[in-house]
Amino acid sequence: MKIAFVSKPAADAPVLALLLADDRKLGTRAAALDRACGGAITRALGSPRFKAKKGEILDLIAPTGLKARRIVLLGLGSPKELTFQVARSCGGALAAHLLAEREVKATLLVDHPTGVKLDEAHLAAELACGVRLRNYRFDRFFTEKKEDRPDPLTGLDLVVSQPAAAEKASKRPAAIATGVEFARDLTNEPPNELYPESFVARAKALTALGIKVEALDERQMARLGMNALLSVGKGSARPPRLLVLQYEGARPGKAGPLAFVGKGVCFDSGGLCLKRGNAMFDMKGDMAGGAAVMGLMRALAERKAKVHAVGVVGLVENMPSGTSFKPSDIVKTMAGRTIEMLDTDAEGRLVLIDALYYTASRFKPRSIIDLATLTYSVQAALGTVFAGLFATDDSLAQELLAVGQAVNERFWRLPLDKDYDTHLESKIADIKHHAEDSESADAAHAAALLKQFVDGRPWAHLDIAGKEFRPKDDPIGPAGATGFAVQLLEEFVARRESGN
Ligand code: MN
Ligand code: ZN
Repeated sequence: MKIAFVSKPAADAPVLALLLADDRKLGTRAAALDRACGGAITRALGSPRFKAKKGEILDLIAPTGLKARRIVLLGLGSPKELTFQVARSCGGALAAHLLAEREVKATLLVDHPTGVKLDEAHLAAELACGVRLRNYRFDRFFTEKKEDRPDPLTGLDLVVSQPAAAEKASKRPAAIATGVEFARDLTNEPPNELYPESFVARAKALTALGIKVEALDERQMARLGMNALLSVGKGSARPPRLLVLQYEGARPGKAGPLAFVGKGVCFDSGGLCLKRGNAMFDMKGDMAGGAAVMGLMRALAERKAKVHAVGVVGLVENMPSGTSFKPSDIVKTMAGRTIEMLDTDAEGRLVLIDALYYTASRFKPRSIIDLATLTYSVQAALGTVFAGLFATDDSLAQELLAVGQAVNERFWRLPLDKDYDTHLESKIADIKHHAEDSESADAAHAAALLKQFVDGRPWAHLDIAGKEFRPKDDPIGPAGATGFAVQLLEEFVARRESGN
């Protein structure tokens, strides 16, 4: 969609939208419009239901004295609580309303309510970001139009005092929206379209933004000894890949880059420990951690962030066949330790241990954050409200918890404790990849395993299982892939960039 920051609305704009904080005072642009339509807006504000809470909408149809066919009042809630994330979700609420009304173009008059910390330019930029996030769609497989599937919005004009300032302020939120869209696209793609090699092909497009893209094939990984990752890919006709992205928006420093590692299981059937049919229906999304890493790298490059960041994604398909790895197989990991592998459906951690060790040993990063749709156990513990966070480093953990709160991608810290390590002892190899009883604290045992492969680097593990799809529309996205954690990681990097 086309988003423009302008100083005046077009004379024939069919849909005008206004902002109102919960004091319901009209700003200067809204007041002028109210006069032009004989006080219709003021009268409408008498509507007992409408409190201008965040995202709340009141629609005025065909106001007299105006060319516009409708005026949409968008509530922003309390000015004190209007953070960038609230602004994004209000923008999303506006988009949802316009889509429901089948309006494809709108003009938003950005009155800046008193008491709002974001300045006018940033408020406009964040609202526009929210509109884009909600307007996202994945429709490339539809061949027919349907009445109940509205066309996407095509244009939004935002009327502001200084269009150039708003344009500048929008660079970062626009880059974030692009990153989220990219991650959602990857996660929504069906597994016959998206598999390790085609995932790599999508990543190669990022070279145009100045990202260095490498992909290790199975021979190169074998030479490095990445046998845990390779084991998972053995059953598939689609060979595994290790994707390595480097973005140098700042000169590589002594402290090392910020590193992000994603689980990229393009389809998880469970392998020989095959899942039941309906447990497989969402398993195209088992690469959502990798998608988040891709979305982050894209957002950083799009906005020319001044950081050195590395993204690594372990790409495999976990399939049953005559060549699959088997429960009780033992292989040597890249780190040199042998691992006994039991439940082939606990494949994510096997992919991650080699990807983590590769990242830690090659780049010596100042921190590593990995993301994975890893365990049912974390969903059982935290449900849809929080994702799980494990960390060896308290300040990194605190930082991520705070950022998650700010972007509304929230995490709860779970235990990393050496007593879990004892359950990973194998009778026949150096280690085994899950506890005897994998129903008991599986998320914590997975984290305890991963911890042993980060080469002592400050590290956080984000178990985002269950966060990859939203079952129904919400203010910042339609049903389907969420692009979860792109906003989190981008904000984390931005705070590091500005030294906060
Ligand atoms: Mn699995
Ligand atoms: Zn999996």
